Amino acid sequence: MNEILAIVVPCYNEEEVLPDSITKLRGVLNEMKGSGSISKKSFLLLVDDGSKDRTWEIIKENHDNSDDVWGQKLSKNCGHQSALVSGLMTARERADLSISIDADLQDDIGVIKEMVDKYHDGCEIVYGIRGSRKKDSFFKRTTAQGFYKLLSSMGVKTIYNHADFRLMSKKALDELSLYKESNLYLRGLIPLLGLKTGEVVYERGERMAGESKYPLKKMLALAVNGITSFSTEPIKIIQKTGVLVLLVCLAAAVYAFISYMTGNVEKGWTSLILSIWFLGGVQLLAIGVIGEYVGKIYGEVKQRPLYHIEELLDK
Ligand code: UDP
Ligand code: MG
Repeated sequence: MNEILAIVVPCYNEEEVLPDSITKLRGVLNEMKGSGSISKKSFLLLVDDGSKDRTWEIIKENHDNSDDVWGQKLSKNCGHQSALVSGLMTARERADLSISIDADLQDDIGVIKEMVDKYHDGCEIVYGIRGSRKKDSFFKRTTAQGFYKLLSSMGVKTIYNHADFRLMSKKALDELSLYKESNLYLRGLIPLLGLKTGEVVYERGERMAGESKYPLKKMLALAVNGITSFSTEPIKIIQKTGVLVLLVCLAAAVYAFISYMTGNVEKGWTSLILSIWFLGGVQLLAIGVIGEYVGKIYGEVKQRPLYHIEELLDK
């Protein structure tokens, strides 16, 4: 067993947690190297996603002072998913297997060994599953779980309570690289690869220091992206609403006709004004949903690169 493991960590303004995280992750790497389950050439790949604080300096210092810390600096902030893919694609070229984990180590590094064991048992992908979210805030827990449920109701295959803590073999990364789409939602894509998968369950902890780099705005953007990149269900809902509204209109027409026949014509003002607003609203909503998809097509046809690596510090 002499395979090279790359632990890929996207970092955005993580100066507060990074030194500690690096020490802990290197500890895990060294232990596994010692036990012979991974190659001595295994490394930690820290991707700086255009941080504005000292993140890159910390990465550089660690790279200079150790033989297993690599750094990859993106030229600007590209977002968690793109930063992760940039790291995974470097790992694909330089390692045999990868494990992705957030810089704040909210995910339990204690199960990394178990993940690697599952890889040795033949799994190409091993998902880290959050057994409980007791330590997450009530808001984070309910919004996240509501989102998973919403996604599955829209027919998107996702792994419940799994974020981006996962092991992927080189083969899995090769397959992932075939997906050229730029609206990336990795958690939705990976189950599409269909390779042999395994799971490890852990308790999610609290962020060690610093604030969440996923404010509500980014969370909502990820959710909208997750849905519209994988499901056309919203368009279908709009279509069904359209049919329903037409039926209502038919009933209203019958009512109007009867009123006309019985001579009560001026009374129609309220219903008239209501229907104008109602239909206007439905139409705007429909156009909005279609616009969302047209915008996606616009983004995809350009085939822009997802990221630009400014500098790679390797060994
Ligand atoms: N992150 C990133 N780019 C961004 C936002 C976040 O690379 O634009 C990284 C961040 O440094 C962390 C991971 O994505 O390693 C997850 O962020 P965070 O822990 O803040 O999210 P939460 O746990 O609150 O969902
Ligand atoms: Mg976190």
